Amino acid sequence: MTERTKSIAHPKGLYVLFATEMWERFNYYGMRAILVLFMTKALMFDKVFASNLYGSYTGLIYLTPLVGGYVADRYWGNKRSILAGGILMAIGEFILFFCGMLYESNPDASSWLFFSGLGFMIAGNGFFKPNISSLVGQLYRKGDTRTDSAYTIFYMGINVGGALGPFVCGLVGDTGNPADFKWAFLAGGIGMLLGVATLKLLHNKYVLDPEGKTLGLTPDNAPKKFLKPLFMVGSLLAFSILTIGLIYADVKIFSYLFYLLIASILLIAFIVFSDKSLSSLEKKKVAVIFTVSFFVIFFWSAFEQAGASLTFFAEEQTNRDLGFYVVPASFFQSLNSTFVVILAPIFAFLWLKMGKREPSSPTKMAMGLFLLALGYLWIAFGVKDVQPGVKVSMIWLTGMYFMHTSGELCLSPIGLSLVNKLAPVKFASLLMAVWFTANAFANKLAGVLSALYPDGKTTYVMGFAITNLNEYFMMFVVMAGTASIILFILASKLKKMMD
Ligand code: GLN
Repeated sequence: MTERTKSIAHPKGLYVLFATEMWERFNYYGMRAILVLFMTKALMFDKVFASNLYGSYTGLIYLTPLVGGYVADRYWGNKRSILAGGILMAIGEFILFFCGMLYESNPDASSWLFFSGLGFMIAGNGFFKPNISSLVGQLYRKGDTRTDSAYTIFYMGINVGGALGPFVCGLVGDTGNPADFKWAFLAGGIGMLLGVATLKLLHNKYVLDPEGKTLGLTPDNAPKKFLKPLFMVGSLLAFSILTIGLIYADVKIFSYLFYLLIASILLIAFIVFSDKSLSSLEKKKVAVIFTVSFFVIFFWSAFEQAGASLTFFAEEQTNRDLGFYVVPASFFQSLNSTFVVILAPIFAFLWLKMGKREPSSPTKMAMGLFLLALGYLWIAFGVKDVQPGVKVSMIWLTGMYFMHTSGELCLSPIGLSLVNKLAPVKFASLLMAVWFTANAFANKLAGVLSALYPDGKTTYVMGFAITNLNEYFMMFVVMAGTASIILFILASKLKKMMD
């Protein structure tokens, strides 16, 4: 190996993390691909309830990483937290498997199993996701030019899993017979265990810092009493019971999640902006973080319809019959990740080719919102004047996912690194929390917007009636389009505030 290839080659640890994350996303997106179908076709929830539950579930999925990241930094270290999170998620999938077995014979037990399975998934994701992402960066020295490409490779791992999960789980679970959904959960759980086994076997040997020391072990000053196996198992169980309660309360008792998220954002804003040690330049940078976090809400709340209203649309309104095979509706959730794998290298090349003309981060994010609006405009056109009950070609959903993915590639990786770059060291984690909270808010909102899906009913949004699919999809065009225009206008001001 020459010196040059050696310097661009990546440490083996990156591929261990790649494989582990791939299996975890396989489990998460595989399960998500059939989630609303399972709710509406096996558990017989109506679409409004299923949509709201989807929003609460995915919203909480983005909230618990705040807890998992905090515990890992202070007490458990990344490795232990990832393994614990993976095991919790696998348990969640197996509980859902039992739920899928019992839903006909014992509806009461299956309802409890359902909420419990989701709670374990939420708790597990909180320990898994933030910690594996932070390990990737720790493989390199600060300022190592390979870090960006490491995250790009890691993003590929996410999406290989995101493409395979819905495909495999859809194949075994989304067969047209609701009794088969359980196999999708089983497949997801097995995938998750493969991820846990990969990390368990390979972490100590390969996931090393630049000096060759194993990464993500117990933090030096962590109190020993928090590391006792009994304490760990007990607290993970207590946390999972809490998340089961949180999702149950939000969908069944009182929808508190929006208020909680807004209160958290306001509290963080107060803490950061009232800090006297920050310079006005630093405060300007923090203001940029809050502004872009606000705009991504409009992106993800429309984008994440994938697992909800767009899956209803795939199931009921898309002609999936190829003549020799009927494509399962869940397969459409593979498309986004498949397009990421295809398009990510093209986008990277494009930005590089543009050189000095490469747009600023806020402009790219505005472009992301614009592409998202364009995707919805495409599908709104596809369903225009289509009579209820008539199915449209798969080309509309496929084309829309292509445009949505192009938008994701403009917005998602850029937003995350922007937060990293702009945050004052003192508030790095807290401002990352703002980003996660914005994602949580967007996902919760996605559920609420999916509940407006028009299947024979008329709903109203800010005085406008939504009676058909064309109007429904146009709502997202207006929402993302308006956000995009405003962000385009603000972009140069934000750029000045960042410099
Ligand atoms: N699809 C990516 C993942 O699962 C990004 C999703 C997001 O940031 N909302 O990690």
